[in-house]
Amino acid sequence: MSVGANQALSRIKVTVESARAASDGERLRRYRRAVQWGALLLAVLIPVTGLFRIDPAAGAFVVLDRQIWFSDFFIVVGFWLAVSSLLVMTYSTFGTAFCGWACPQNTFSEWANRMTQKFLGKRAEVSLTGELIHVSPGKKKWINWLMLGGLFLGASLLLALIPLLYFYPPDVVWSFISVRDDARLAASLHWIYTVFVLIILVDIAVVRYFFCRFMCIYRVWQHSFKTRQTLHIAYDDARGERCASCNFCLSVCPVEIDPRNTSTYDSCINCGACISACDSLQYRLGEPGLLRFEFGERKLSKLVGLAIQQGSRLKSNLGTLLGRFSWSLPLTAIGAAMFTWGLLSYQPYHLSVYRADTNQGTIQDYRIGLANKLYREALLKVRIEGLPTDSYELSGSEMAFTTVGRKDLNVHIAPVLTKGLHPFVVQVESQDGWRASYRVQHFVSRSGR
Ligand code: SF4
Ligand code: SF4
Repeated sequence: MSVGANQALSRIKVTVESARAASDGERLRRYRRAVQWGALLLAVLIPVTGLFRIDPAAGAFVVLDRQIWFSDFFIVVGFWLAVSSLLVMTYSTFGTAFCGWACPQNTFSEWANRMTQKFLGKRAEVSLTGELIHVSPGKKKWINWLMLGGLFLGASLLLALIPLLYFYPPDVVWSFISVRDDARLAASLHWIYTVFVLIILVDIAVVRYFFCRFMCIYRVWQHSFKTRQTLHIAYDDARGERCASCNFCLSVCPVEIDPRNTSTYDSCINCGACISACDSLQYRLGEPGLLRFEFGERKLSKLVGLAIQQGSRLKSNLGTLLGRFSWSLPLTAIGAAMFTWGLLSYQPYHLSVYRADTNQGTIQDYRIGLANKLYREALLKVRIEGLPTDSYELSGSEMAFTTVGRKDLNVHIAPVLTKGLHPFVVQVESQDGWRASYRVQHFVSRSGR
C-alpha cells in the first residue's frame, strides 16, 4: 500500500460504538463483582485490623483497641452522626444499591445460583422461588448433589466465622478454630457457631433472594429515602421493537421486576445485571443496550424524552441532590470532627471514687474504682493527698492490669479525725504519663478518739 493510501486511511474516522457499549456492560458486571467481594473482604478486615468490634464481656464497643464507653461522648455521637448522614446521602443518591453491590446476602445468593447451574444444569432451580425443584436430566447424579452440598457447607463454615470476629480478637477466633483451650472463649460458643452455620447454610442453599425480596428490613429502610432523582434504570422506548421476542433482562433480574418499566418506589436494587444482559445481546447486533443507569425524573424522561436537554436535566437533578446534601454534608463534617476530637482527647484509664461503708452517720470506707480501657498491660499508682498519713489506710498503692478491665482499691478512714469536713484528693498516675484526681469531701459527724 502506498504512503498516500495509508495517509488517506488514517484520516478516516472509525467509531467502535457497539464494541464500547458491549464492553461497558461487561465492565459493569466486573466492577460489581469486584465491589461485592471487596465489601466482603472489608467486613473481615474491619474487626481483624481492630477498626471496630464489640467486647461482649464488657458490653462495650472497641475502636482501634480502645474500649469505647457511652461516656466517650464525642466518639459515640460523632461516629453515629457521620455514618448516619453519609448513609442518608447514599440512599438518596443510589437508592438500594447497597443490596445490589455490597450486601453479602446477595453476593452469596448469586454465587449459590452460579454453583447450582454449574452442578445441576443451566435451568436448575432449587431455591425458594415458588417453582418446583428442577434439575437438568444430564446432571441428575448424586456426586453433583454431594459436591454442591459440600461447597455450600464449606462456605457456611467460613462465613459463620465472620460474626465471631466482631466479638473476639483474631487470636481468640484462631484458638476456637484450632480447638485450643482459651479462657477467653465463651463455653457455649460452639453452639452459637453451629446455629450461625445452620442459618447461613439454609440461606445459601434455599432461601437466597427470597430473603432480599420479602424479609429484609434494611432494604425497606433504604427504600424510604428514595426520591425521583435517585439512580434508577432507564429504558430506551424508541428501540422497543428489539424486545419483541426477548425478555433476557427480566430473566436475570434477582428481584423479578421488569427492568423496562421501573418506577421510583419499586424493589429494584440497582444491581445493573439487566444492563449487562441487554448490552451482551445488543452487542451482537452492533448496537448499545436499551437499558442504562440514570439519575432524574422518570416521568419527564419517558414523556418528553429527547426534548429535554440532557445537560439541563442533569443540572436540575444534581441541584436537587445537592439541596439534600446541604443539610446532611455539614452533619457529616460535624460528626467526623467530633469523632476525631473524641479519639484525640480519649482517656485510656478511668478513675472514680464511691463511698463504701458508713458507721454511725460517718463514712469510713471509700472504694477507688480504676479501669484500664486499653487492651494492653498497665500499671496505675495511687496516692491520697490532704489527710494525715496515720488517718487512713489504702489497700494498695498501685494496681496492675494485664489487659482491659476494672479493679477496686479501698481507703479506710480511721476514727481519729476531728468533727468537721476533711477534704482529700485521690491522685492516680499511669506509667505512660496519664494523670487524674478525684476530690472527696469527707465529713466527720463525731469527733474521733
Ligand atoms: S434484554 Fe434488552 S432487548 Fe431484551 S427485553 Fe430486555 S431491554 Fe429488551
Ligand atoms: S431491574 Fe435491573 S438493576 Fe434493578 S434489580 Fe432488576 S436486574 Fe437489577
